[in-house]
Amino acid sequence: MSYNVNEKGYYGEFGGAFIPEMLYPNVEELRQNYLKITAEPEFQAEFEELLKEYVGRPTPLYFAKRLSEEYNTKIYLKREDLCHTGAHKINNTIGQILLAKRLGKTRIIAETGAGQHGVATATVCALMGLECIVYMGEVDIKRQAPNVARMKMLGAEVRPAMSGSKTLKDATNEAIRDWINNPVDTYYIIGSVVGPHPYPDMVARFQSVISKEIKEQLLEKEGRENPDYVIACVGGGSNAAGTYYHFLDDKDVHIIAVEAAGLGVDSGESAATSALGKVGVIHGSKTLLMQSLDGQITEPYSISAGLDYPGVGPMHANLFKTGRAQFISITDEQAMEWGIKLSQKEGLIPAIESAHAFAVLDEMKFKPDDVVVINLSGRGDKDLNTYIDYFKL
Ligand SMILES: *Cc1c(COP(=O)(O)O)cnc(C)c1O
Repeated sequence: MSYNVNEKGYYGEFGGAFIPEMLYPNVEELRQNYLKITAEPEFQAEFEELLKEYVGRPTPLYFAKRLSEEYNTKIYLKREDLCHTGAHKINNTIGQILLAKRLGKTRIIAETGAGQHGVATATVCALMGLECIVYMGEVDIKRQAPNVARMKMLGAEVRPAMSGSKTLKDATNEAIRDWINNPVDTYYIIGSVVGPHPYPDMVARFQSVISKEIKEQLLEKEGRENPDYVIACVGGGSNAAGTYYHFLDDKDVHIIAVEAAGLGVDSGESAATSALGKVGVIHGSKTLLMQSLDGQITEPYSISAGLDYPGVGPMHANLFKTGRAQFISITDEQAMEWGIKLSQKEGLIPAIESAHAFAVLDEMKFKPDDVVVINLSGRGDKDLNTYIDYFKL
């Protein structure tokens, strides 16, 4: 059994492309071209060059000595927090902007919730000199003022989505509407392993550089390519997909996916999709999502804006359903405590999303010889106000 996408765009029963007919030409153009273009040596050379010189890759695989001593196991941190713009998201936007250019597109659109994907998109548009329009819910624009300012500084136009709950899903609807109206010159950069096929597979491939590097770095440091555990937080699932990618078929590697339990899985204020989700369609793919009995999408909640998403990508839905990955949900409180703990134990202030992944160390028992890799998906600068309010710093 393969855990990767099949030719029809499915991971087991999940995935596919459930899109309005008007969107078909755009998605089909992408589907027919993405593998061909990304396999071209010139594409790969340009992608690798930008990851190296602009993003700052390879990111270190850091042996966390003090944490390892406390938990009596070998803990390595994959330092995606050191990427330009402060998280893994730029790996994907670099890949997609290069693809957009080769498809002859001149106008880039994106949707954003917390603003992190908007910033990563605005950054690569500035890099390439392309027009950039970012759709963002009106409520999120108010909540995420620093990221809105960043996007504007980078030359992007931030367009408010005024319908519905005025948050991420409404911004996504606006972006899709824009794409339908501008099918020829416009490329839509999606920020996680979600959306209609081929987006989940394409984004996973761009992020897979994370696990490619982990293999090389572990071989050097431990004399073996495979760790015993890989651990990553899951919002839509892109940093996790990148961390797992080259280990999916290696059964000796335990895969752990960490979701946001918010105030508690059964509190009604949660984003733990694997625990609460049912099969449904969101953003054009069939996956697990949180919904009411009559199929309305439930508003998710997490203190970390990046995990505050009502679904997971189809790859993760399949990893859950098949049991290939173990899913654990971590509360706001546990994650916030780890924000302080990682800061004071290793001198690393994590993004609150990433802090969720570390709480697994308190939930599971590891052996002294185990090699445990945790993906530190981003740094905590963007979350400073949340840390200040929570801890009255
Ligand atoms: C956006 C974000 C996430 C969640 O998105 P995924 O697609 O699940 O990776 C996690 N960590 C950080 C730092 C983020 O910015």
